[in-house]
Amino acid sequence: MLNKIMIVKCATISLLILTALSVTSVASSTPPDMDKRIAIMIASYPDTLWKAENNKIFFRNGNAAVIINDGREKSHEQKLEHGDVTDSLEQIYPAGPCSTHSGPNFEPGRIRSDALFKGMYGQTPSQVEANLVSVRWFGQILRVNRINGANKALERVHAELQNYPQWRHFLTPSAGVFNWRKVAGQTNLSVHSFGVAVDINPKFADYWRWRRRRSRSQAVSSPNRYPLELIYIFEKHGFIWGGRWDHYDTMHFEYRPELLAIGKRARVGACGIP
Ligand SMILES: [Zn+2]
Repeated sequence: MLNKIMIVKCATISLLILTALSVTSVASSTPPDMDKRIAIMIASYPDTLWKAENNKIFFRNGNAAVIINDGREKSHEQKLEHGDVTDSLEQIYPAGPCSTHSGPNFEPGRIRSDALFKGMYGQTPSQVEANLVSVRWFGQILRVNRINGANKALERVHAELQNYPQWRHFLTPSAGVFNWRKVAGQTNLSVHSFGVAVDINPKFADYWRWRRRRSRSQAVSSPNRYPLELIYIFEKHGFIWGGRWDHYDTMHFEYRPELLAIGKRARVGACGIP
C-alpha cells in the first residue's frame, strides 16, 4: 500500500517536473544565432541587401560588399564608434507598449555599422538627398528616404497616429529627419545622416546628455514623457525607439525593421514574452 502511494506520488512529481520543464522550454526559446540574425536582416531590407557570403554582405545596388564580422574584440564604446554588422545585431530589441529598464550599456540599435548604412542609403549627403521624398506629418512636411520603404513606413505611422488627436502635441513640431552629422561626442555618423530617423516634438524629450544637469530627484524618475502606446505604434511599423537605451534619447525613432523582426523571432518583448 505504502509502495503504491509512493509510486503515485513519484509519478505525480515527475509529471509536475515534466510540465515545468516544457513550460520553461517555451518561455526561454533560444534567440536566433548570428547567421539567422543576418538572414533576418537581409529579408528585412529586400530592396537593397542581396546575400551574405564569405563574411560579407552584398548589395543589390552594386555598392562594395561590407564585412559582417571584423573579428576584433571591442569595448562598448569601440562598438559604437566602429561597429560591424554582428556588433549591431548583438543586443535584442524589446518592443511593446511597456517601459523597459536598460542595464548599463544595454541599448539595442544604438550600435550600427556605418558601412552597411552607407551601402544601403548613400555614401555622401548628396547621394542621400537624391532619395529623400516628402511625407506628411501633422501639418509639416518631412523629407524621408524612400530607400527600403522608410518613407512608406513613416506614412503608416502617421496614418495610425491620426486616430489619436490627443497625442498631436507630442508629435509636432518634429525636430527633423535628415541631417548629415556625427553622433554628438562620437566619430560615427548619426542615423539622421541617412534620412531614416525622426525626432518628434523635443519639448517633451529627455536625453542622457542632459541628465547630469538635472537635480538628483529628477535623475531617478522615469526619463520618458511620451505615451507608451504612441511609441508602440512606431515600433509596429519598423521604427525602434531611443528611449529604450541606457544612453536614452526619447524623441528619437529610427527605421530598423531587422531589429524588430529579430526581437519577434527571439520572443523578446517590452511587456514580457509576446
Ligand atoms: Zn534623433
